[in-house]
Amino acid sequence: MSAAHSRRLNDARCIVVKVGSALLVDSTGGLNRPWLESLCKDVIELRRGGAQVVIVSSGAIALGAAHLGIGAARARLEENQAAAAVGQIQLAHAYQEALSDFGVGVAQVLLSLDDSESRRRYLNARGTLTTLLKQGVVPIVNENDTVATAEIRYGDNDRLAARVAEMVSADVLILLSDVDGLYNRDPQHDAQAEHIPEVRQVSAEIRAMAGARASRLGSGGMATKLDAAAIALAAGCSMVITRGDVSRPIDALQKGARATWFLTEETPRRARKQWIGGTLQPRGELHVDAGAHQALQRGSSLLPAGVVSVAGQFERGDAVRVLFDGQEIARGLVAYPAAEAAKIAGRRSADIAELLGYSGRDEMIHRDDLVFVGAKEHSE
Ligand code: GLU
Repeated sequence: MSAAHSRRLNDARCIVVKVGSALLVDSTGGLNRPWLESLCKDVIELRRGGAQVVIVSSGAIALGAAHLGIGAARARLEENQAAAAVGQIQLAHAYQEALSDFGVGVAQVLLSLDDSESRRRYLNARGTLTTLLKQGVVPIVNENDTVATAEIRYGDNDRLAARVAEMVSADVLILLSDVDGLYNRDPQHDAQAEHIPEVRQVSAEIRAMAGARASRLGSGGMATKLDAAAIALAAGCSMVITRGDVSRPIDALQKGARATWFLTEETPRRARKQWIGGTLQPRGELHVDAGAHQALQRGSSLLPAGVVSVAGQFERGDAVRVLFDGQEIARGLVAYPAAEAAKIAGRRSADIAELLGYSGRDEMIHRDDLVFVGAKEHSE
């Protein structure tokens, strides 16, 4: 690994590791425990280096299918979903056991996301994941295969892992795969195929190299890995594809194992602010008083107390404009739907539970979800 690449890994504050099914399941269809333990050693090392780690793990369907005697390759959707229900318990438990040897707790997070924005779920999942990370727990994420319908299912954890990386503002996404990266032609069929060590943009030319080859157990091929790279890069997260089918694969990567790096100079924070400020269509307005205006300029969150009035129809997680004196000063993702925002406007955060009947967030818009319009950004 070049010095520049190893710096990416060493400097990362938050890393998402994606584990493919083929790595976790041995030739009998059972869980490959020695390998899992070696991966967990790597995760512990990353944490010792100061990074928070999220694991996005496949393997539920493969493990469950073996247990139920379902042939994974040609199974119907509902059989796969049933298999996932059986396998997911084994999978989560295996991680729990392996990491508990190091005194580290795990959390199971099952997500059903679609590629279009489902903002409420997005905001909720981000809140949960960042809270788990703050608590020092390793989230083990998988798609909620059992309930996800064909239309909204990802079906591959490569893109799910990239969405998770975006959600937690990760700096690096590591895809542990059965290939050591991207080649200009299919290396299985072409001995002249050349390995590509670094990619800066997922261009049409890069996509043309990928083909559609899928690995035996997982559902994603190189094409879904490039989709994942595009999502990650747009979120300010660099991504690396390397072989996972060795003991201590991340250690091997650090020691120079072959890999393809997809690099961005953008930071997750800047990319997120750009997404909130530029990409999302605002659904409503929050008018704030002078005190709130000043607090926002100092880099604080927007509290309900500083909101004078609420306009528009919006849901929790939608983008809204923040106005002072008739001028738009900021945009952000609002933590309450319009009707509730109106109820708590002008009131203290301590009163939220009484006003709404449940205790929501203290902030109307959290500072991380807020971006200033036409003004300098607080860098913290
Ligand atoms: N979510 C699926 C599982 O856990 C795997 C999806 C994939 O192959 O990436 O079995």
